[in-house]
Amino acid sequence: MLQKSSHFMREANLIDGKWVQADAGATIDVINPATGQKIGVVPKSGRVETRRAIEAADKAFQTFSKTTALERSKLLRKLHDALMENQEALAYLLTLEQGKSLAEARGEIGASAAYVLWFAEEARRTYGDTVPSPWADRRILVTKEPVGVIAAITPWNFPSSMLARKIGPAIAAGCTAVVKPASQTPYSGLAWGVLCEEVGIPPGVVNIVTGSASEIGDELCENPAVKKITFTGSTEVGKLLLTKAASTVKKVSMELGGNAPFLVFDDADLDRAVEGAMVAKYRNSGQTCVCTNRFFVQSGVYDRFVEKLAEACDKLKVGSGIEEGVQQGPLIDGNAVEKVEELIADATSKGGKVITGGTRHELGGTFFRPTVISEATTDMRFMKEEIFGPVAPVFRFEKEEEAVALANDTEYGLACYFYTSDLARAFRVSEGLKYGMVGVNEGLITTPEAPFGGVKESGLGREGGHQGIEDYLDTKYVCIGGL
Ligand code: ADP
Repeated sequence: MLQKSSHFMREANLIDGKWVQADAGATIDVINPATGQKIGVVPKSGRVETRRAIEAADKAFQTFSKTTALERSKLLRKLHDALMENQEALAYLLTLEQGKSLAEARGEIGASAAYVLWFAEEARRTYGDTVPSPWADRRILVTKEPVGVIAAITPWNFPSSMLARKIGPAIAAGCTAVVKPASQTPYSGLAWGVLCEEVGIPPGVVNIVTGSASEIGDELCENPAVKKITFTGSTEVGKLLLTKAASTVKKVSMELGGNAPFLVFDDADLDRAVEGAMVAKYRNSGQTCVCTNRFFVQSGVYDRFVEKLAEACDKLKVGSGIEEGVQQGPLIDGNAVEKVEELIADATSKGGKVITGGTRHELGGTFFRPTVISEATTDMRFMKEEIFGPVAPVFRFEKEEEAVALANDTEYGLACYFYTSDLARAFRVSEGLKYGMVGVNEGLITTPEAPFGGVKESGLGREGGHQGIEDYLDTKYVCIGGL
């Protein structure tokens, strides 16, 4: 497996169809979070290399934007097939640098392929309009055109599928791209370059640059040839990019932080709620932007829910992601562990009770025990801050309105979940929750067919769904006169 994965593991930038090093030859180490050992290096690039990548993308756009939707759809279908044919090798590489279990990594590569297939289909449906004209001698046409060169900046928690949601619609629309993967997990990003080459996507259409986030980010934001920035990551960096992209009035899509609430009402199917809670909380060791950050449980089922959640938690197999059967890998780095420890210390100092977990795992390194904390209160830090780790704080509530108000008491608005068997409540609560995505009696709702994205400070734009390609298209109005 290692041998097959190493075919995809490139230690170079992809610019204009060539694998190249950073000008100064500088590199960044890539670490396996399960062992703390170095896997390899990637180029530490800056503005100059990024500018070259943008120039290559701009040049490629001149021809790629003229291809037909059907041609691009076929390329994307090939890309989908290549992802699935190499699912195992790509998943192995992903686990190696990211830490998640192989089962989750396989799932992520499958999700990447599913997004690419979705956009292969959407490529052929970027319809315009003909509009009834108010003038007898003129006609009104509205068409869609690719925006041009797009820049994609992606995070380490889903190093493959976050690129699928950006490269997929870019190619479908006829755009070209400059991509910067996260420095912790660059190989899964660079693997897209290998796949694109192998399926015949023309040189310069997808360029990949690794290195200094701020230098690469500044060039991508300030270079006028880039017409759109698409970013998945923290709200803090998202705000920075929004400000910088304003200098050249670029289109922007932002998938930022979340503070997902998970509400369990007295009338919920408790076993189903616990099952949903496990996936909504502990997937990827709690390191996803749609992971539950706060559980709100009605008093009638509070004790039973906490007990069942802790029982399920204790059954999770923690270990190195590449070992079969492991369900929870390490956290990404030492800072992540320290943050989780700080949040737990804050909670216990304010009356929170650790029901299970609460400490580093005996495996050492950045492994952390799946944790449940009861008696959570609104003065604790995880009411406002993203945990990004395997810790479930459980708050108690009495009334529906109280729970909805608490759930909405955050500047974030990405995903939320709630469990009830009352149909009227299902509608009332889903309409009351100020979030971009709502899971009703479901803890895992992401799929390419549906629009993923947030409101408030969780972001702008949607990825997936028929909406997912719109941000990659400009609308053009043509008035034909003298008829
Ligand atoms: P996370 O907390 O998930 O690491 P970040 O927002 O820090 O989220 O990182 C997401 C992506 O944004 C990564 O690819 C990272 O390298 C990049 N990034 C971080 N800082 C900047 C910046 N100042 N400009 C551009 N990109 C940045």
